[in-house]
Parts: sequence; structure tokens; C-alpha cells
Amino acid sequence: MTITLITGANKGLGYHAAQRLIKAGHTVYLGARDPERGAKAADAIGATFVPLDVTEDGSVAAAVRTIDDAAGRLDVLINNAGIVGDSVAPADVTAEDLRRVYETNVFGVVRVTHAALPLLERSDTPVIVNVSSGLGSLGVITNPERMESNVPTLAYGSSKTAVVALTVYYAKALPLMRINVVDPGYTATDMNDNSGTQSLDEGTDAIVQLATIGPGGPTGGFFDRNGVVPW
Ligand code: NAP
Repeated sequence: MTITLITGANKGLGYHAAQRLIKAGHTVYLGARDPERGAKAADAIGATFVPLDVTEDGSVAAAVRTIDDAAGRLDVLINNAGIVGDSVAPADVTAEDLRRVYETNVFGVVRVTHAALPLLERSDTPVIVNVSSGLGSLGVITNPERMESNVPTLAYGSSKTAVVALTVYYAKALPLMRINVVDPGYTATDMNDNSGTQSLDEGTDAIVQLATIGPGGPTGGFFDRNGVVPW
């Protein structure tokens, strides 16, 4: 039995990944900050709801305690929760705008990872999947052939670059774990008012793939559903 925690899983990519991993045999703890929506989403797919706001130390600690009490370990952590922030031109972005987005997208990843590491260390095959974005790849945003190079999203994009860097540092420090970062690709969810061009199946391919890699799989890499993403 594989014990998996997904943050921000009451809807969108996290919810769909939860559904797919349950079908693949995982026991999924569905993290969500809203108790009503979280419980409803978990019930619908046979997951276990765990209240989890990635911006709150107490909430994260309680979620980890719940999993510890019930399962005693964690095999797969998927840091998926994210916000896009306000649409502000780069020149108008303030430190406060940045802090708000980083609180969820960057500090949230560190908060959850730091709290969950003791449980992951009790797994025989610990795995972490961090959900970044093509907008977090410097190689992608400086490639004029990629649509991401025309999206001036300073706070969100740079937060997702930080997620890539965090992944590399964690992977180097924790070589017994498989720790990778993914770009789901532009996928129709509430985050983009469903303007994304990919289906939820396509958008969760890389997440599911990296969540189910064996102990011989890669670590410290950046992937999308087609393969390696440039830094
Ligand atoms: P979404 O439908 O808006 O879902 C985002 C999820 O994160 C929701 O469940 C949301 O909960 C949750 N969340 C936000 N703040 C949270 C917090 N403080 N604590 C816990 N959960 C929180 O967006 P999505 O497209 O599925 O995004 C999932 C991930 O994929 C994000 O990291 C996003 O940046 C990344 N991504 C998406 C795309 C895309 O095209 N969709 C592309 C690249 C990367 P609430 O319902 O309570 O708000």
C-alpha cells in the first residue's frame, strides 16, 4: 500500500491526480484548506480528507500528525497547492504582491516538505513531486518559440522558478528519496478560467508518472509529460 499526500487536491490537477493515483492503488490523503469542499471531494473519489492550509504552520503540523497516527509513514508527497496571484505588470509588482504568492507557492512547499520529511523517512521508497510550471523554467520563458515567453507574470513565474531550485537542493541533500519537479502544461482549470488547452488527463500525466517512479527512477529532475524541461 502506497500512502500519498496531495496538497490543494479539492479541485483541478490535484483532484484529478488523486483520482488517478487511487485507481493505481494508492491510499490518498486529499489535502484541502476548505473543510467542506475538501471532504466532499475526498468522498467522491474514495480519498481521505485531511484539512491542510499550506500557509499555516499549525494546519500543516496537524495534517502530518493525522497521517502519522493513521499510517505511520508517508510514501509520496505531492506539493501541488498553488495560486496565480493578481495580474500585475512586472513594473508594478510590490514586495507584498510577491510575498502573498510566495507564501503559498514557495514557503508552502517548504512548510509541508519540512513537516513531512520525518514521515517520508519511514518509507522504503520515499517520493516527492513538486508542481512547478513552464513559467518557472528560465529556458522556457527566454525561448521566443514558447508561448510562456510572452506571459509577464513576475510573481507567479518567479515563485515557480523557486520551486525548481528548492527541488534541486532537496534532491541533492536527500539522495535516498526521489524528488522531482514537474510542469503540468497549460491545462484547463479554475486557475486559468478553464482557458488551458490540455485536458486534466494530459495535465496530470507528469505528476502521476513522477509520483509512481520506482527507487531506480530519476531524482533532482524537471519534467513535463514529454520529457525533460530546461532549467
Ligand atoms: P486550481 O484548480 O486553482 O487548484 C489549485 C488548488 O490549490 C486548489 O485546490 C486550491 O484550494 C489550492 N490552494 C490554494 N491555496 C492553498 C493553500 N493556502 N492551502 C492549501 N491549498 C491551497 O489550479 P490547478 O491548475 O489545479 O493548479 C495546481 C498546480 O498546478 C498549481 O501549483 C499550479 O501553479 C500548477 N500549474 C497549473 C497549470 C495549469 O495550466 N492549470 C500549469 C502549470 C502549473 P481552494 O479551492 O481552496 O482555492
